[in-house]
Amino acid sequence: MCGIVGYVGKQRAVSIIIEGLKRLEYRGYDSAGVCVLQGGQLDVAKKAGRVEVLAKEAARHRFNGTTGIGHTRWATHGGVTDANAHPHVSSDGKFALIHNGVIENYSQMKQFLVGKGYTFASETDTEVLCNLIAYHYAKEPVGQNGGSRFVECVRKSLQHVEGTYGIVVLGVDFPGEMVAARKASPLILGVGDGEYIIASDASALVSRTQNVVYLKDGEIVHITPAAFSITTLDQEDVSPVVDRITWSVADADMGDYAHFMEKEIFEQPQALENTMRGRFSEDGSTANFGGLNITAAELRQIDRFLFCACGTAWHACLVTEHLIERFARIPCEVDYASEFRYRNTPLHSNTLFFVISQSGETIDTLAALREAKRKGYKALAINNVVGSTIAREADGGIYQHVGPEIGVASTKAFTSQLMVGAMVALYVARLRDMSFSDGVQYVKALKGAPALVRKALEQAPHIRAIAKRFAGYHDMLFLGRLSLFPLALEGALKLKEISYIHAEGYPAAEMKHGPIALISEKCPSVFFAPAGEIFPKIVSSMQEIKARKGPVIAIITEGCELPPGLADEVITIPDCHEAVLPMVAAIPIQLLSYYIAVERGCDVDKPRNLAKSVTVE
Ligand code: GLU
Repeated sequence: MCGIVGYVGKQRAVSIIIEGLKRLEYRGYDSAGVCVLQGGQLDVAKKAGRVEVLAKEAARHRFNGTTGIGHTRWATHGGVTDANAHPHVSSDGKFALIHNGVIENYSQMKQFLVGKGYTFASETDTEVLCNLIAYHYAKEPVGQNGGSRFVECVRKSLQHVEGTYGIVVLGVDFPGEMVAARKASPLILGVGDGEYIIASDASALVSRTQNVVYLKDGEIVHITPAAFSITTLDQEDVSPVVDRITWSVADADMGDYAHFMEKEIFEQPQALENTMRGRFSEDGSTANFGGLNITAAELRQIDRFLFCACGTAWHACLVTEHLIERFARIPCEVDYASEFRYRNTPLHSNTLFFVISQSGETIDTLAALREAKRKGYKALAINNVVGSTIAREADGGIYQHVGPEIGVASTKAFTSQLMVGAMVALYVARLRDMSFSDGVQYVKALKGAPALVRKALEQAPHIRAIAKRFAGYHDMLFLGRLSLFPLALEGALKLKEISYIHAEGYPAAEMKHGPIALISEKCPSVFFAPAGEIFPKIVSSMQEIKARKGPVIAIITEGCELPPGLADEVITIPDCHEAVLPMVAAIPIQLLSYYIAVERGCDVDKPRNLAKSVTVE
């Protein structure tokens, strides 16, 4: 969600911070700000609106200090105004702070601080925190302990906080230093050549260093130009582990594409290759996962799966449910992570719990994982971002390996989640009743997925023409059955997210139980109609729509024939194995939503009100 960048080193901090904030824009935000420590002062520039607006404002400030912090805010408490933008400075001018998250008990703290004479310039929950640090500092200003006094004041303040935070703090009396801490909001420390960069997301620092330390919940890092040290909220020393990011800044660039979403749609054949690499057994009949941390014997005892996720990843769970039940014959359930965490679901003792989250930071999904673990369940995760909080807290997991996904509307991460789900279904099925030869066929089919997806992408010019025709509509339905019902949900979600057209996804046969009332010449329906025994049933549903003058866009597989005149537009995708079909079927709905959004002049990579990874509840 919101973005954090802090810099300590020898360069002009402001340029590095603004560059970092630009790289975090994709996460979604509504205002931006920067604070540089220079000339014994905390100098702040902040503005509602885009980082571009902030960059202009910052230019007027002539920042030239080498220590600074910057933030992109996604408002939770207080409107989108210049005053509410971060950084916030304590009313005595001693500390500046940026914050990602929510301080739940801010109002009691505010009352207390007002009583002590501190004043407030914003309506945010965040501002209490910098005044609280100032309050602790004023009680006992810097003494012979030097910099560590800085850490102590932050630690003391955080001990009073209920809620979530990733914070970075500067202090007027601590030139060249920075203190950062986290609880449920990601922070990564980049260890560069004579410099440190702290950020909420690796894309903000990878242009300067690939050596990073992933901070854990409850840790506080103290950074000076020469060194850094990590302690916990309980004052224990932590020995940091420096990891290496495996992708480079080029992976986070747009190249020749018009949008990140377009780039990521066309990257999918390669992304699927990367997800599969090295993950099939030597005999070619099953999948292998290095980090699942569950033995074959344990897995054979599992008699129920429960998958939790949010948004697009939830749709990936629904497809995985279908494949696990179909091929492994094990009951599987899917829940919204946000519901699971409060529902107190009864969990059977042989249940295997799985979460899916591209970023590995989605707060609802993290909470669901923690709840399952608290109840004593083995909890596994499917993530893309290496070292993310969910990846670290899960008992085991599978990385997607698709590189950074910058477009807010998920595309390559989604199909790669479908691939991981298909591989999990295969692995579990082979431990049960699936035969060796069926396993070999299945593996062969998965290996063929990138080529089929590439073929589906060749439809792009045709889909673009269809998008032109349908871009002016206000409502749209997406209909599919079995493993493509979740794809209907995903199609509707994609269209809503980036084109702001109202859209709904339904199982095709459900239409007649209510939604058909919406049908008129003003409401087109997108049907998935793949070959198979269900094909004639889907054709009947199309007839019902056509009889009520609803325009029909049919996505069929090669070799299918529709009655003449039934569909207004037809998109043909390759026919394929059941486990691969959802990945191939994702392509036309992604392209359709993308081109419709472009046609409508929407800001595809930064859709209104949305954030890439939702790190607040
Ligand atoms: N709760 C804080 C605010 O509204 C921080 C929001 C964020 O994470 O961007 O200012």
